[in-house]
Amino acid sequence: MGLFWYFCSMLNMGKYEAVIGLEIHAQLSTESKLFCDDATSFGAAPNTHVSPITLGHPGTLPKTNTKAIEYAIKMGLACNCSIAKENYFARKNYFYPDLPKGYQISQHTTPICVGGHVTLNTKDGEKCIQLNRIHLEEDAGKSIHDQSPTHTLIDLNRAGTPLIEIVTEPCIHSAEDAFLYVTEVRKLVRWLGVCDGNMEEGSLRCDANVSVRLKGDPTLGTKVEVKNLNSIRNIKKAIEFEIERLIHLKETGGTIIQQTRSFDANNDTTFSIRDKEDANDYRYFPDPDLAPFNLTEAYIASIKAGLPSLPNELKSTWKSTYELSTYDIEQLCDNKEESDFFITLTKQTTHYKAAANWIIGPIREYLHETAQTYAQLYHAIPYLVELFNLVESGQLNFSVATSKVFKAVMENPQSPIQYAVDQNLIQSQSIEEIEMWINEVLAEHPEKVAAYKKGKKGLIGLFMGEVKKKSKGKADPKKTTQLLEEKLSS
Ligand code: ADP
Ligand code: MG
Repeated sequence: MGLFWYFCSMLNMGKYEAVIGLEIHAQLSTESKLFCDDATSFGAAPNTHVSPITLGHPGTLPKTNTKAIEYAIKMGLACNCSIAKENYFARKNYFYPDLPKGYQISQHTTPICVGGHVTLNTKDGEKCIQLNRIHLEEDAGKSIHDQSPTHTLIDLNRAGTPLIEIVTEPCIHSAEDAFLYVTEVRKLVRWLGVCDGNMEEGSLRCDANVSVRLKGDPTLGTKVEVKNLNSIRNIKKAIEFEIERLIHLKETGGTIIQQTRSFDANNDTTFSIRDKEDANDYRYFPDPDLAPFNLTEAYIASIKAGLPSLPNELKSTWKSTYELSTYDIEQLCDNKEESDFFITLTKQTTHYKAAANWIIGPIREYLHETAQTYAQLYHAIPYLVELFNLVESGQLNFSVATSKVFKAVMENPQSPIQYAVDQNLIQSQSIEEIEMWINEVLAEHPEKVAAYKKGKKGLIGLFMGEVKKKSKGKADPKKTTQLLEEKLSS
């Protein structure tokens, strides 16, 4: 197949529509496993969180962790699912070396959360991604293939860890939307505190199902499933690769076979790991050791009442309450600790835009540099409010406020006003003083002044910079520009 024919087939890409359905496994942040009290913490020495229940010893009795049920319901409510009242766990029988019982406990025909949707803000506007289900299941252990050339090692610490599997309908049509969807789901699970969303540690894993069909064709094409994608970037790349590969196959008369594939991050391609066998017969049956669990309306309502405001709700409230740009709002709704901090600030100041700018700029930078979290910043809120006032009233220059005063106040708690006065940082509002600095600057740069007068208006920036230097940042920029323009045009 020459390159020429490859490009010819790709010219027809526009005839096709991609269809994507995603399955996301999210490890719940419970302290203990789904059916026993082994710890779920990541990074422990191999095979140390392995009680007889985890190891599947005969005669042991599992018991359901109610926290996991609560977390699954939280996610379901946040995704507008309906919550099933009657639930049970089933055994899904299959043999796998890191599944010691010989079956996985899962919710087969009875997912705890049914339907629902996740709303995305795409560049083409809002899009609703329909969910099929969110169900609870236990994770398997881990087979380790890269530590010995001859043996596979097994770590069962992860076996029995609670997962929710969030399954979409086949309703996503681009790699870009898949990327946004997974980003949104990761944000939501973190927001709710039900999963840490850490893809590198495998707390969030995604399988992408991809097919293509001619635009307008209502039937679904044969799908391939790319397994265990462990970064959002790789999800996008794998889907992009698959869409192209499948269209190319169609255009060149090849047959698409239902396959399970894996992503190779070294060259951004996928490769087949197995052709789909006939439907597996897992012999599902309700686990006789676990009692079915029924949820009352009151219990579900109490979880609903305890949900935090969700990013999309905050976004629409903030849009109508504060005059903030869409960018600012998106930024502030990215992380719950940050949005909580913003909410607390807005209860103590009306300089909303200033609060947003400070958070997105200097505060983030400060927390990053000092490896602190928002929780450690609440005590400083009165100082921050004072700083906003100083800047907004023109008494303190923004960059002096952030680079000098803010840092000093954080190192050594003290009143920003007092510090600014002591350090002689309060900005000059006095016309005479600013004029004096301007006169000095203009006298020092006669050629630049002449050039400006001949039309090089861009030089205003240079004069501003010089005045700023000379005044040590104390010349009010608005007044300085105004005075400079007056002087230079005379
Ligand atoms: P399986 O039994 O193979 O896991 P499911 O019907 O449970 O398949 O679907 C798994 C995922 O695959 C879902 O997210 C679903 O939306 C998606 N899916 C199903 N059929 C297709 C298809 N033809 N093209 C793309 N995605 C699909
Ligand atoms: Mg699947």
